[in-house]
Amino acid sequence: MQNATLAVGDKIEGRCTKCRKNNEHTVLTLVKENPAQVECTVCSRQHKYRPPTAAKKPAVRQANQHKEAERKEWATLRPGMNSAKALDYSMTESYKAKALINHSVFGLGLVQRVIGSQKIEVLFEDGKKTMRCK
Ligand SMILES: [Zn+2]
Repeated sequence: MQNATLAVGDKIEGRCTKCRKNNEHTVLTLVKENPAQVECTVCSRQHKYRPPTAAKKPAVRQANQHKEAERKEWATLRPGMNSAKALDYSMTESYKAKALINHSVFGLGLVQRVIGSQKIEVLFEDGKKTMRCK
Protein backbone atom coordinates (compact mmCIF):
# COMPACT_ATOMS: atom_id res chain seq x y z
CA MET A 1 0.00 0.00 0.00
CA GLN A 2 1.26 3.41 -0.90
CA ASN A 3 0.59 6.54 1.02
CA ALA A 4 -0.27 9.70 -0.82
CA THR A 5 3.20 11.08 -1.34
CA LEU A 6 4.02 14.73 -1.39
CA ALA A 7 4.99 16.41 -4.58
CA VAL A 8 6.66 19.70 -5.32
CA GLY A 9 3.96 22.35 -5.44
CA ASP A 10 1.77 20.64 -2.85
CA LYS A 11 0.45 22.64 0.06
CA ILE A 12 1.26 21.49 3.56
CA GLU A 13 0.83 22.88 7.04
CA GLY A 14 4.11 23.93 8.60
CA ARG A 15 5.71 26.32 10.98
CA CYS A 16 6.75 29.58 9.39
CA THR A 17 10.01 30.96 10.79
CA LYS A 18 9.02 34.52 9.91
CA CYS A 19 5.31 34.58 10.79
CA ARG A 20 6.09 32.51 13.90
CA LYS A 21 2.95 30.47 13.50
CA ASN A 22 1.53 27.52 11.64
CA ASN A 23 0.75 28.46 8.05
CA GLU A 24 0.11 26.73 4.78
CA HIS A 25 3.35 26.25 2.86
CA THR A 26 4.05 25.29 -0.73
CA VAL A 27 6.60 22.50 -1.11
CA LEU A 28 9.59 23.66 -3.18
CA THR A 29 11.95 20.70 -2.81
CA LEU A 30 11.66 17.19 -1.45
CA VAL A 31 14.25 14.94 0.14
CA LYS A 32 13.20 11.28 0.26
CA GLU A 33 9.54 12.29 -0.01
CA ASN A 34 9.87 14.63 2.95
CA PRO A 35 9.47 18.35 2.44
CA ALA A 36 12.83 20.13 2.54
CA GLN A 37 12.46 23.68 1.28
CA VAL A 38 9.05 25.31 1.50
CA GLU A 39 7.50 28.69 0.80
CA CYS A 40 5.06 30.28 3.20
CA THR A 41 1.79 31.16 1.47
CA VAL A 42 1.28 34.05 3.87
CA CYS A 43 4.61 35.93 3.78
CA SER A 44 6.21 34.17 0.76
CA ARG A 45 9.35 33.46 2.76
CA GLN A 46 11.28 30.41 1.61
CA HIS A 47 12.78 28.32 4.36
CA LYS A 48 13.38 24.78 5.55
CA TYR A 49 10.25 22.86 6.35
CA ARG A 50 9.36 22.73 10.02
CA PRO A 51 6.45 20.66 11.25
CA PRO A 52 3.58 22.65 12.76
CA THR A 53 3.98 23.17 16.47
CA ALA A 54 1.45 21.95 18.97
CA ALA A 55 -0.91 24.66 20.10
CA LYS A 56 -0.17 24.29 23.80
CA LYS A 57 2.57 22.80 25.90
CA PRO A 58 1.55 20.66 28.91
CA ALA A 59 3.07 23.05 31.44
CA VAL A 60 1.07 25.93 30.01
CA ARG A 61 -2.12 23.88 30.01
CA GLN A 62 -1.69 23.14 33.69
CA ALA A 63 -1.24 26.81 34.47
CA ASN A 64 -4.32 27.59 32.40
CA GLN A 65 -6.42 25.13 34.38
CA HIS A 66 -5.30 26.87 37.53
CA LYS A 67 -6.27 30.21 36.00
CA GLU A 68 -9.56 28.76 34.85
CA ALA A 69 -10.52 27.89 38.43
CA GLU A 70 -9.63 31.42 39.56
CA ARG A 71 -11.63 32.98 36.74
CA LYS A 72 -14.64 30.87 37.73
CA GLU A 73 -14.20 31.95 41.33
CA TRP A 74 -14.15 35.58 40.22
CA ALA A 75 -17.28 35.06 38.07
CA THR A 76 -19.05 33.49 41.05
CA LEU A 77 -18.17 36.42 43.28
CA ARG A 78 -18.82 39.08 40.63
CA PRO A 79 -22.57 39.55 41.36
CA GLY A 80 -21.69 40.46 44.95
CA MET A 81 -19.18 43.10 43.90
CA ASN A 82 -20.49 46.63 43.93
CA SER A 83 -18.22 48.36 41.43
CA ALA A 84 -19.43 51.76 42.67
CA LYS A 85 -17.78 51.01 45.99
CA ALA A 86 -14.49 49.77 44.55
CA LEU A 87 -11.40 51.69 45.59
CA ASP A 88 -9.03 52.75 42.84
CA TYR A 89 -5.92 50.69 43.25
CA SER A 90 -2.75 52.50 44.23
CA MET A 91 0.39 50.97 45.65
CA THR A 92 0.61 53.82 48.13
CA GLU A 93 -2.68 52.79 49.77
CA SER A 94 -3.22 50.03 52.29
CA TYR A 95 -5.94 47.43 51.88
CA LYS A 96 -7.68 44.86 53.98
CA ALA A 97 -8.88 41.40 53.07
CA LYS A 98 -12.25 41.39 51.23
CA ALA A 99 -11.77 44.99 50.07
CA LEU A 100 -12.94 45.63 46.52
CA ILE A 101 -10.49 47.45 44.33
CA ASN A 102 -10.52 48.80 40.81
CA HIS A 103 -7.29 48.35 38.87
CA SER A 104 -6.62 50.38 35.70
CA VAL A 105 -5.47 47.27 33.82
CA PHE A 106 -6.97 44.25 35.56
CA GLY A 107 -10.35 45.76 36.44
CA LEU A 108 -12.37 44.82 39.49
CA GLY A 109 -10.57 42.76 42.08
CA LEU A 110 -11.32 41.34 45.47
CA VAL A 111 -8.51 41.38 48.02
CA GLN A 112 -8.00 37.79 49.13
CA ARG A 113 -5.45 38.32 51.84
CA VAL A 114 -2.69 40.55 53.00
CA ILE A 115 0.73 39.00 52.48
CA GLY A 116 3.31 40.36 54.84
CA SER A 117 3.44 44.13 55.19
CA GLN A 118 3.40 45.49 51.64
CA LYS A 119 1.65 42.95 49.46
CA ILE A 120 -1.88 41.83 48.86
CA GLU A 121 -3.24 38.92 46.89
CA VAL A 122 -6.09 40.05 44.67
CA LEU A 123 -8.55 37.98 42.67
CA PHE A 124 -9.17 39.59 39.29
CA GLU A 125 -11.24 38.44 36.35
CA ASP A 126 -8.00 37.11 34.89
CA GLY A 127 -6.98 35.25 38.05
CA LYS A 128 -5.10 35.95 41.23
CA LYS A 129 -2.31 38.46 41.27
CA THR A 130 0.01 39.74 43.95
CA MET A 131 -0.06 43.51 44.16
CA ARG A 132 2.04 45.96 46.10
CA CYS A 133 0.42 48.18 48.67
CA LYS A 134 1.37 50.37 51.57
ZN1 LIG B 1 5.25 33.16 6.79
